[in-house]
Amino acid sequence: MNAPHLIIVVPCYNEESVLPETIRQLSEVLNRMLEKEKISIGKILFVDDGSKDKTWEIIHQNSQTNQLVSGLKLAHNVGHQYALLAGLEWASSHCDAAISIDADLQDDVNTIEEMTDRFIQGADIVYGVRRERATDTWFKKHTALWFYRLIRQMGSDVVYNHADFRLMSRRALQALIAYPERNLFLRGIVRLIGFPEAYVYYDRKSRFAGESKYPFRKMLSFALDGITSFSVKPLQLIITGGFIFGIIVPLIMIIYALFQHAHGHTIAGWTSLLISIWFIGGMIMIAIGITGIYIGKIYKEVKQRPRYFIEEGANL
Ligand code: UDP
Ligand code: MG
Repeated sequence: MNAPHLIIVVPCYNEESVLPETIRQLSEVLNRMLEKEKISIGKILFVDDGSKDKTWEIIHQNSQTNQLVSGLKLAHNVGHQYALLAGLEWASSHCDAAISIDADLQDDVNTIEEMTDRFIQGADIVYGVRRERATDTWFKKHTALWFYRLIRQMGSDVVYNHADFRLMSRRALQALIAYPERNLFLRGIVRLIGFPEAYVYYDRKSRFAGESKYPFRKMLSFALDGITSFSVKPLQLIITGGFIFGIIVPLIMIIYALFQHAHGHTIAGWTSLLISIWFIGGMIMIAIGITGIYIGKIYKEVKQRPRYFIEEGANL
């Protein structure tokens, strides 16, 4: 294979304080790889996610003087995931591989070369996995841990300790944009694609400058979004609950009530009342569960996800 054309996609929201340094470090990495002829073309694509500060000015100015720098300016703030998607979608028709990385230099830029090596060796998706979170606060570390656990339990196979620092080949990018759903949980979807994967490990640093744009409130809604836009597990839980609380428990209660009735431990009306309450409650729960099955199907239909991707063929 010829040396690939690489694009580094960087979503930016109010990042004026780190951008000059980000541009410097990423240019250095690209120049190093260009010198070694590991890549044939290298570009950094900054996606300005409707910033209110000088972010776009900085990107624009640098794109005039530094030929490695390019930029997309989104019309308004759409959030990290969609800003990233905008960059990746553009990259999917302009490069052989794209690497997504945050603007704040928390992910080790030197890992980019290793990711590219893995791509050259044949991986379509290379996950950047952080070794430890030494610099995060106890709170951030643990909430993140719970986040991964919860999401996994809800049936989405995210890579532990992997954020959105990853390389994707052109065909993996094209597979990604074949998912037309509105609520896109990138980390979950990427795992569904299925082309050859690889992992590289790095130490995560603290933010170079500026503040986290992910306060706890946003993280919580991100976790909820991750689950509800990805899995029908919560709906399936209603069905399971429906069977337990709608059939098994009422049956036990009905047997118990009749038993008490037969032994005369009851006052008039108690048995019929208790049985009716459990019966009605159980019927309602089962009805909700059945509705849930249909809603789950509708949910899957409206997503219109691709059903398969072909990895290879032989003698076609
Ligand atoms: N970001 C974005 N749009 C937003 C919020 C954040 O494009 O609405 C970018 C931000 O500029 C950064 C990346 O997403 O490059 C990750 O954000 P941040 O570092 O604040 O998140 P954290 O690392 O604290 O989870
Ligand atoms: Mg960050």
